[in-house]
Amino acid sequence: MQTPAGKECSYFYGDYHRGKNIEECRLLKDQGIEWETYLCNKCPVPEIFQANACENMKFTVEIRSPFVLMKPRVEVSTYCVKCECNVEQPKIGCGQCHPLLDIFVVGPNDENLSD
Ligand code: SF4
Repeated sequence: MQTPAGKECSYFYGDYHRGKNIEECRLLKDQGIEWETYLCNKCPVPEIFQANACENMKFTVEIRSPFVLMKPRVEVSTYCVKCECNVEQPKIGCGQCHPLLDIFVVGPNDENLSD
């Protein structure tokens, strides 16, 4: 569903049916954090999902101000339930599910390419 910031986010829920105007972030709600509309503006989660839709990643959220007097924003730390490790670069992933091949194979006549 599209957030108030105009980005697709699977954690955003909006119900506007029959005059309702219910909006919530289920990621923040599940962690007991109150959500406000402006938090979607700089939230990194939609971009992470756009780059890496791995379902093994779990997010832990904190709301922090990067500097004094700046609006608080969403910061996430990512954990992979498959490798049971922290994911340093969530847009790339931990590398367990989608390891890079040692040698890329282009086609059946690859041997001829090296000649
Ligand atoms: S705060 Fe982040 S995770 Fe929550 S709905 Fe907005 S973009 Fe999605």
